[in-house]
Amino acid sequence: MRTLVTGAGGFIGGHLVARLLSEGHEVRAVDIKPINDWWQWHRDFKVENVPNYDLRLRAQCMRACEGVGHVYNLAADMGGIGFIERHKTACMLSVLINTHMLMASEFHGVQRYFYSSSACVYAADKQNRSRLPGLCEGDAYPATPEDGYGWEKLFSERMCRHFMEERGLECRVARFHNIYGPHGSWNDGREKAPAALCRKVAEAKLSGGRKIEIWGNGKFTRSFCYIEDCLEGIRRIMDSDVREPINLGSAELVTIDRLAETIQQVAGLEHRLAPDYKFDEPQGVQGRNSDNTMIQRELGWEPSTCLAVGLRETYRWIEQEVKDAKDRPHPHG
Ligand code: NAD
Repeated sequence: MRTLVTGAGGFIGGHLVARLLSEGHEVRAVDIKPINDWWQWHRDFKVENVPNYDLRLRAQCMRACEGVGHVYNLAADMGGIGFIERHKTACMLSVLINTHMLMASEFHGVQRYFYSSSACVYAADKQNRSRLPGLCEGDAYPATPEDGYGWEKLFSERMCRHFMEERGLECRVARFHNIYGPHGSWNDGREKAPAALCRKVAEAKLSGGRKIEIWGNGKFTRSFCYIEDCLEGIRRIMDSDVREPINLGSAELVTIDRLAETIQQVAGLEHRLAPDYKFDEPQGVQGRNSDNTMIQRELGWEPSTCLAVGLRETYRWIEQEVKDAKDRPHPHG
């Protein structure tokens, strides 16, 4: 039976298809975007690429799930904080994808269903200072998640739970914490902090710029999980007996200033760029880290790629993208 990956034209979905193919799975890769807009698409006889497919529609979900054993549902209208704070309706409308995908999976007797949730489900009062303990899974309730995007994720997690308890659809739910790596958004308004800062450093390096724009005061904290760890975690969680939502993130907490400095180091900049703090741009919660007690206990594993190593690969890819974009002729001459 096939494995379905939704959101396969996106950042994590593109990498996940590659990983599943390398493990020998037959994959159906579905996305709403035309194929030329996919971050990666794979030419392999074991993959069926299905572009231009809107999974908000029930009929499309029904067709996508035909003949499928496992579903990895990654499709969502989402982006970094700049996107999710300004497009709450679009983020909440992903509930149509998650509702119809669960219904179609149940209808077709899918054996296992993976849902990509987010650290944005966690309660606001657990994240209102820069230095706080990591978020453990119980911290999602009482619920005060990120408005829009976080509410949708929490609601969809809950639907997974009830499809499992009442209708026998075996679900696995991972709460991703800031996944980063090559082959994802870096300049389309959906990029997250690591990609945005890599782009700004690359632009400064290539133009001889001296400043770097940073949203907020640079003191907010986050952890960032490299894509290879994310893929490993997805596969381990999918194959596990863990039936509760579980964190999938790094526990290496850094300030945004530190993130920007590390990128400058891996970029080999000769002088440090002067931070230009922007206080009127979206900033999100003050502090967020992943508590990995549950994943260590359940899987005997946790993400371990250190930030500098993951950023080296990410920066290399984004610097090349910035160079290529500069060299491309402008469409209007
Ligand atoms: P992404 O935006 O790169 O990929 C999502 C893909 O879903 C896109 O290619 C998009 O075209 C597709 N999509 C959107 N609406 C669709 C529709 N109606 N029908 C079919 N496809 C549709 O995002 P990503 O970073 O790869 O994230 C993948 C999943 O992980 C998402 O569910 C996201 O919410 C979740 N997540 C990601 C992060 C992260 O740091 N990247 C953190 C938490 C949660």
